Amino acid sequence: MKRKLIYLLSVMLLLSLTSYGAIKIKGENKQYQGEGLTIVTSFYPMYIASLNIADGIDGVQVVNLTENQTGCVHDYQLTTKDMRTLSGAQVVVLNGGEMEEFMEDVLDQQEGIQIIDSSAGMKFLTGSTHDHNHEENGDQQEDSHVHNHSNINGHVWLNVERYMKQIQTITDGLCKIDPLHEGMYRKNEETYLVKVQSLKGEFDSLKEITSGTEIIIFHDSFAYLAEELGMEVVHAVNTDGETALSAGEIAEVVEEIKLHDIAYLFTEEQYEHTIAERIEAETNATVYVMDSLVTGGLDKDSYLKGMKKNIEILKEAFAVKNK
Ligand SMILES: [Zn+2]
Ligand SMILES: [Zn+2]
Repeated sequence: MKRKLIYLLSVMLLLSLTSYGAIKIKGENKQYQGEGLTIVTSFYPMYIASLNIADGIDGVQVVNLTENQTGCVHDYQLTTKDMRTLSGAQVVVLNGGEMEEFMEDVLDQQEGIQIIDSSAGMKFLTGSTHDHNHEENGDQQEDSHVHNHSNINGHVWLNVERYMKQIQTITDGLCKIDPLHEGMYRKNEETYLVKVQSLKGEFDSLKEITSGTEIIIFHDSFAYLAEELGMEVVHAVNTDGETALSAGEIAEVVEEIKLHDIAYLFTEEQYEHTIAERIEAETNATVYVMDSLVTGGLDKDSYLKGMKKNIEILKEAFAVKNK
């Protein structure tokens, strides 16, 4: 009972995090006066969230940057089309958490643009969670297991609870910038939050099975899915960048899987599977192809559909393993 109360309080704390500083105004405040508002989003999950919040509001359009990206946005470079889109924006919606490094310089030079940082005030996970030792092994072995990555992991939208907070922050921002349509933004927010909340319910019942499971992930984004499911990320293989893994790094991952007796490897559609499959062949672990929602369909229910698919994959994976 007490545990439940503490859990409830921590959820409330997370949801009530102040959105102070979520809106940055650069230059002259071009507050919407009813003549049409263009909201530009930095990349896919921000686009889908904003589409839902601005749904059916006359004169308000949502346009996405980074449209032709095929994976995550880490190595993205703005195109001339992106630049044109940006110059027509009154509002820019960002994910935050250092995900938008590709447009920082350009945003610095934009005048009269209002920026909503959807993860303002949020505490991020850091790059790697692998900081444990294997005590049964010798000193040398222990040392080789302490990694220190301090980079911020910005893929917060993959934790449903955090995504809900982002929806609220974006809505708060739009209501301040465009108070004429506050009622409609709020109504849309509520509708969307109810749908996302039902995903949360499914994740919570999955968590009863997945909690405590050790996994290896092939994109930092899944650390947030793991957080949602109470899973422990033993190793995050970085396949985000352009550099391929060395044979030594692959051997290290294989060793890690054997030491921890890991059964689950999470990779994703947008990336090459060859490394994960090679590791799968050398161990008892199974590769599961999940969706990070960095790309996808353009209809407003795409996040819900993508997450639903992730839930189905997880259900199947854990039903098989528990037989
Ligand atoms: Zn990424
Ligand atoms: Zn280890």
